[in-house]
Amino acid sequence: ETRKETLGFQTEVKQLLQLMIHSLYSNKEIFLRELISNASDAADKLRFEALARPELLEGGAELRVRVDFDPEAKTVTVEDNGIGMSREDVIAHLGTIAKSGTADFLNALSGDQRRDSQLIGQFGVGFYSAFIVADRVEVFTRRAGLPASEGVHWSSTGEGEFDIATIEKADRGTRIVLHLKADEAGFADGWRLREIIKKYSDHIGVAIQMPKEHHGEEKDAPAERQWETVNRASALWTRPRNEITDDEYKALYKHVSHDFGDPIAWSHNKVEGKLEYTSLLYVPGRAPFDLYHREAARGLKLYVQRVFIMDQAEQFLPLYLRFIRGVVDSNDLSLNVSREILQKDPVIGSMKTGLTKRVLDMLDKLAANEPDKYREFWKNFGQVLKEGPAEDFANREKIAGLLRFASTHGDSDAQEVSLADYAGRMKDGQDKIYYLTGESYAQVRNSPHLEVFRKKGLEVLLLTDRIDEWLMGYLTEFDGKSFVDVARGDLDLGTLDSAEDKQAQEELAKSKQDLVERIKAALGDEVSDVRVSHRLTESPAVLALGDQDIGLQLRQILEASGQ
Ligand code: ADP
Ligand code: MG
Repeated sequence: ETRKETLGFQTEVKQLLQLMIHSLYSNKEIFLRELISNASDAADKLRFEALARPELLEGGAELRVRVDFDPEAKTVTVEDNGIGMSREDVIAHLGTIAKSGTADFLNALSGDQRRDSQLIGQFGVGFYSAFIVADRVEVFTRRAGLPASEGVHWSSTGEGEFDIATIEKADRGTRIVLHLKADEAGFADGWRLREIIKKYSDHIGVAIQMPKEHHGEEKDAPAERQWETVNRASALWTRPRNEITDDEYKALYKHVSHDFGDPIAWSHNKVEGKLEYTSLLYVPGRAPFDLYHREAARGLKLYVQRVFIMDQAEQFLPLYLRFIRGVVDSNDLSLNVSREILQKDPVIGSMKTGLTKRVLDMLDKLAANEPDKYREFWKNFGQVLKEGPAEDFANREKIAGLLRFASTHGDSDAQEVSLADYAGRMKDGQDKIYYLTGESYAQVRNSPHLEVFRKKGLEVLLLTDRIDEWLMGYLTEFDGKSFVDVARGDLDLGTLDSAEDKQAQEELAKSKQDLVERIKAALGDEVSDVRVSHRLTESPAVLALGDQDIGLQLRQILEASGQ
């Protein structure tokens, strides 16, 4: 060993390690899933880089991951012949957390172990999860393409610092040795490891091998060891739908999303014809902590003809569907695609249109067939979906059908009314969808604007999310019915007002003309008009907005942003 040094972990790593060890005790076995996931990523990366530089394969093209164990030494070893790491890579990746939002993530932790363990799951525990079961972890690695003398040895007890040294390593790739804690020695067991691999990693596309066991559980001596593949090793999405179990779909979801929980729905499709691609799209069961971060991870895992190309390919779905996770595998794209090319390639545009439709259809089906799950979905992602009509003009009507609102029909702020529900309850002669926006449910619920609607038994949607006013700027009609903000201008209830009503209103307006003039004179420039209103049944007066005025909510947002 040369160039030996001891370095400290980044503060966040220390915090994360502490947390992980204390909150994941009931889910220890995931360390293997995480290490295999990294090994499989390393194989993917090598395969990809070797497209341009075949010499990286160094003659050994058959990529595999090997899991070995030694009950006497109390070790579990995960070894891959993937891309490997240089000394700089090791320091950068196994000493810090590069993920965006780490600080926010740590702040979001509550100290409640159950909740925190779920959050950690969403964050993706990754390599550091090795310390859940090990009190010392060693990494031997060499980056493909570097000479054997550029191997790296990393080792740590997970307590604040790690040792790093340059070593000789003949073959490329990474070997990770876990020295199990005394009370976790049970993991050094062939049967148990196979079970865990089956459970979490069966769908992994690269072969995961374990030493062949003979009767009596005896392994061959290391020199003549034979290996057998223990996972299915075919990319899940390439198999026919009817041969894939729900558990297999769920396992792949956990792999692509880093979520501990199950997805709420998925859609697996093969498109053939002018464009050929396979997609497997998932709706997560809960919102990630960074759903509203600009730099939060989003996008799909992109493969071209089974070869992994990149994570977080954002070009395949619009921003308002950023919560969708999954895989897209194209037959049309070149293996050399880059993010820049993705931005321009017209093939991507067509795929994006197709995939967007898939997602909207999947949500539509979920809403129709599993309303409870859809309610759950709406709580998690409804706010994001509301960005849709502004971003995706072509699908406005479809998105509108997926929206849910609170309304005067119910008596809580729960957003459960669809526009179709509303339309189904419309009164004879009603051809508009009425809505009111405001700061809070309590405020709009008691608004004087609602008085006339209550009197006539007309339902009004109550919109109190920050984004609602903006949303309504882009939603002009649903099913041929236009939207009317009940707080605006001269409210014309059309045929919903009888002829007598109208006459009475006109007479009233005439008789109060003097009063109106006096109020106008008193208020001067503070208002643009004063009118006799037939909106009110109890309150003496109400402030209304002109048809062209910016809404109050939007005005506040603009003021807050200094405009
Ligand atoms: P993530 O996989 O989400 O990036 P991890 O903590 O699991 O986070 O891994 C951190 C980084 O360490 C990886 O992104 C990768 O660069 C590097 N790494 C981990 N394991 C391996 C491996 N077996 N081969 C090559 N690189 C690895
Ligand atoms: Mg990982």
